[in-house]
Amino acid sequence: YFMVILFICVSHLMSTLGNPKSWINSLPTKLQTLNLANKLRDDPVAIKLASTDFGNIVREIPAAVLYPSSISDIASLIKFAHTTSSAPFNIAARGQGHSVRGQAMARNGVVVDMTSLKNQKNGYGIKVSGSPSMGWFADVGGEQLWVDVLHATLEHGLTPVSWTDYLYLTVGGTLSNAGISGQTFRYGPQISNVYEMDVITGKGDFVTCSREKNRELFFAVLGGLGQFGIIVRARIALETAPKRVKWVRMLYNDFSAFTEDQERLISNNGFKQNNALDYLEGLLLLNQGPPDNWRSSFFPLSDHANIISLVTKYGIVYCLEIAKFYDDHTLISMEEELKVLFQGLNFIPGYTFEKDVSYVDFLNRVRSGELKLQSQGLWDVPHPWSNLFVPKSRISDFNSGVFKDIVLKRNITTGPALVYPMNRSKWDDRMSAVIPEEDVFYAIGFLHSSGFNDWEALDAQNKDILKFCYDSGIEVKQYLPNYKTMEEWKSLHFGTIKWRTFEDRKNQFDPKMILSPGQRIFNKVK
Ligand code: FAD
Repeated sequence: YFMVILFICVSHLMSTLGNPKSWINSLPTKLQTLNLANKLRDDPVAIKLASTDFGNIVREIPAAVLYPSSISDIASLIKFAHTTSSAPFNIAARGQGHSVRGQAMARNGVVVDMTSLKNQKNGYGIKVSGSPSMGWFADVGGEQLWVDVLHATLEHGLTPVSWTDYLYLTVGGTLSNAGISGQTFRYGPQISNVYEMDVITGKGDFVTCSREKNRELFFAVLGGLGQFGIIVRARIALETAPKRVKWVRMLYNDFSAFTEDQERLISNNGFKQNNALDYLEGLLLLNQGPPDNWRSSFFPLSDHANIISLVTKYGIVYCLEIAKFYDDHTLISMEEELKVLFQGLNFIPGYTFEKDVSYVDFLNRVRSGELKLQSQGLWDVPHPWSNLFVPKSRISDFNSGVFKDIVLKRNITTGPALVYPMNRSKWDDRMSAVIPEEDVFYAIGFLHSSGFNDWEALDAQNKDILKFCYDSGIEVKQYLPNYKTMEEWKSLHFGTIKWRTFEDRKNQFDPKMILSPGQRIFNKVK
């Protein structure tokens, strides 16, 4: 009896000592010699988090999750995968995991939980620098949330100029896509407002890059879908922060009138630098119940019945949404400027609504809706989202073929449906982000929420919308793109020339195809 007990104890001890983390078995055993072993986890909590995302549709199980306590932890892991390992494993940075198709996952590989750097002394945090003559900027860790960047910069009376609608996203995550919202027409996407970055490339090298220095990496990483390196610091442009926001919505039943007004307001004629709108978006009001949704609660309750009857009458009502920022001393001039801008707009008379809110409340407008859905258990549901860029010359065809036909007839769309234009001149084609060729193009967002059993119908609708575009020759591009094969990426997304650059950059900065396999561009499951 004693011998049996002794045997069990000794074999248990030997297996613990000899193979301190037996779970690493699917990864190269040599990984255990790095100083990272105690920062790698494979317990169910860590694995569950890293194998799910906001989309709640894709599931990929990693071998382990790295919780880095410094930037050099990330560099060591990538360098190891690149150089030491004969069979390199995949690595994906995970910001907030707010992707919708598994883009931040790494099957059988290692997911790097970037948020664990957030409160570490060895991370970059958020530091504001500059001067009135040279301009202001914030050096921000790639793991930081935009909402924290907002609060930290406001302490200095400053703010970034380009935003996303929702602020609980990481800087590294949005810069890997583009980062768009109602400010994009004027300031460009977030990727157009970065001066410099520190990146750990797919070879494990720490590289500082900007438009002047290591520019190939700089342009590759911005909109680069995590393919070339992990952004650990970004230097973000800042300007003086306003205090308040006049926020206005107007309703249209005529799509041409709606888009003509949108295009005029974002054009050079519609705004001179000092007399410009600060934000412009647009959305569809469909027969989905109350006109408000989680993305923003806006319309006065007393007007809901009136708006609903308008939607019932027309099927779709188009809602123009604009904002003008101001301070107490610019209140009067702001109102004058708005009056001029609104002259000649063709919304339905009487259907204009306005709100006056603080700058923070405006930028953080989606948060209250999120918290409400969370409290109802409706935030962590499947999100079969589809985001598209549609060239201006075909937006009317998109309205008749998609909004008026597919969307209206199927009547299954749930959640916000966005439609707003932006100017190509505010983007930089040297960056990896892909947009249509025309000077003005529209961002379309179907931000569906669904039950666990019925997301496929919405996904089928997304596919039919894309098919309609391809069949009708509308040169649509996906934003937050999702393709299954390299051929699709090449022909449907990048096009031959941009693909060549993208592929060359991949060979240069991540030749072993280690990074962000969840995008399904280069990586085979290893
Ligand atoms: P993750 O989902 O964690 O990662 C996205 C990709 O980037 C992955 O491939 C990942 O590997 C890679 N990555 C993550 N961190 C880094 C890093 N530091 N360096 C390099 N690669 C990295 N987008 C907009 O543009 N405008 C919006 O208004 C907007 N609103 C949204 C609202 C909600 C509620 C949600 C859920 C998403 C929204 N998005 C919006 C989309 C969002 O910008 C992207 O999903 C973005 O990728 C999310 O950031 P994340 O930090 O969660 O990234």
